[in-house]
Amino acid sequence: MAQSFDSLTAAQIAAGVAAGDFTATEVAQASLAAIEAREGGVQAFLQVAPELALEAAARVDADRAAGKPLPPLAGVPLAIKDNMNLVGTRTTCASRMLENYQSVYTATCVQRMLDAGCLPMGKANMDEFAFGSSTESSAFHRTNNPWDTERVPGGSSGGSAAAVAAGEVALSLGSDTGGSIRQPAALCGCVGLKPTYGRVSRYGVIAYGSSLDQVGPLTRTVEDAALVLSVIAGHDKRDSTSSPRPVDGYADFSRSDLKGVRLGVPREFMAEGLDGPVAKACQDALARARDLGAELVDVSLPHATRHAIAAYYIVAMAEASSNLSRFDGVRYGYRAAEPKNLDDLYCRSRSEGFGQEVQRRILLGTYVLSAGYYDAYYKKAAQVRRLIRQDYLNALGSCDALFGPVSPVTAWKLGSIIDDPLKMYLMDIYTVSLNLAGLPGLSFPVGEADGLPVGMQLIGKDFDEAGILGIGNVLSK
Ligand code: GLN
Repeated sequence: MAQSFDSLTAAQIAAGVAAGDFTATEVAQASLAAIEAREGGVQAFLQVAPELALEAAARVDADRAAGKPLPPLAGVPLAIKDNMNLVGTRTTCASRMLENYQSVYTATCVQRMLDAGCLPMGKANMDEFAFGSSTESSAFHRTNNPWDTERVPGGSSGGSAAAVAAGEVALSLGSDTGGSIRQPAALCGCVGLKPTYGRVSRYGVIAYGSSLDQVGPLTRTVEDAALVLSVIAGHDKRDSTSSPRPVDGYADFSRSDLKGVRLGVPREFMAEGLDGPVAKACQDALARARDLGAELVDVSLPHATRHAIAAYYIVAMAEASSNLSRFDGVRYGYRAAEPKNLDDLYCRSRSEGFGQEVQRRILLGTYVLSAGYYDAYYKKAAQVRRLIRQDYLNALGSCDALFGPVSPVTAWKLGSIIDDPLKMYLMDIYTVSLNLAGLPGLSFPVGEADGLPVGMQLIGKDFDEAGILGIGNVLSK
């Protein structure tokens, strides 16, 4: 029987390939077989790329045979969220608008993963243009949570999370504008890292909210998340918002307990709104942190829960409406057939090419930016954003990191809230404020509630990914 790599971490697969225990081609074939066997139930992928994967594997195997040193992720199967360009694949953002868009270049983060030896298995499903928290707004199909296929995998990087949780790939890339890496990781029982704004290049990633978006890994272990971050982090001359700051060593896991660590627990995060079983799993995780030697500090983020959803959805929709203006059937994207005139061409291309949630966000985003409303909405939201960041800086001033829930509930039933946009937006209560503040967040599994995974997040200081990874590594063991 062919070997299965399901339970191996990326680090173990790379070590096995380097040691010659198995070849990268065997790993690629096993991953393709797992995809073939499980996609019927999970539907994590929009496109599978066997040729690209096998080609990359053959290169790794040839390099090893030639005695060349192998890069850190050589032979590790990777799923890529479908808002990241990769030559040889379509990049659709799960939208009819880009259904036939062939990538003409490769995103920097994806290229860095390929240079590190990863095998690109394919493009993962997502909410259309990354607008959502359940992956149900994909124009093509839904993705099912591998823990219970009647439930959502979370979103918008639901395909990326489900592919890892189902054992189809060892790791994936997602993007997080308001929680889209951390929340699906929590709902699927994976690890997800949203780096500090500017730590990872956004070049080649189709923009949602340019001041909020960050790319990061979804993995099985904290160690793998650190490995991926060390590959994708760093300045890119093609993205002027990427930070020139040198990249830290992220995989220094010398810490084995939490003695001397001050963990802030935002009082507003643990208040009402948290579902009973999730609250219990969070309390247990806090007790564990204390047992491991951490000092738990009561902190307050007065604006971050109260105003985060309102401020986030105004800023995110404003930026989205501006970013999506290029998809007009002329410059980019789907073009309506037989237009009567130019207005008709624009109007029908966008009405037929974009789904309902995308249209809602474009309308709201345009509204809050319009003359007469700008001061009341967009400007106000920008001011609140500042207060939220200040809340975080105050709280982090007395702690090493903050610790809180990711999602108020575990994975919910498919179809149960998709028709209630406000309810869906409220699911993001614990994640969006971090993006407004630009800070890094690590989500990792801390237990189960009623047979479904529960995740919690560590929130770090600007560029202190090493700190939260080190603490997360101890807590997740
Ligand atoms: N659920 C949030 C939204 O719909 C976050 C999405 C994301 O991070 N891409 O905007």
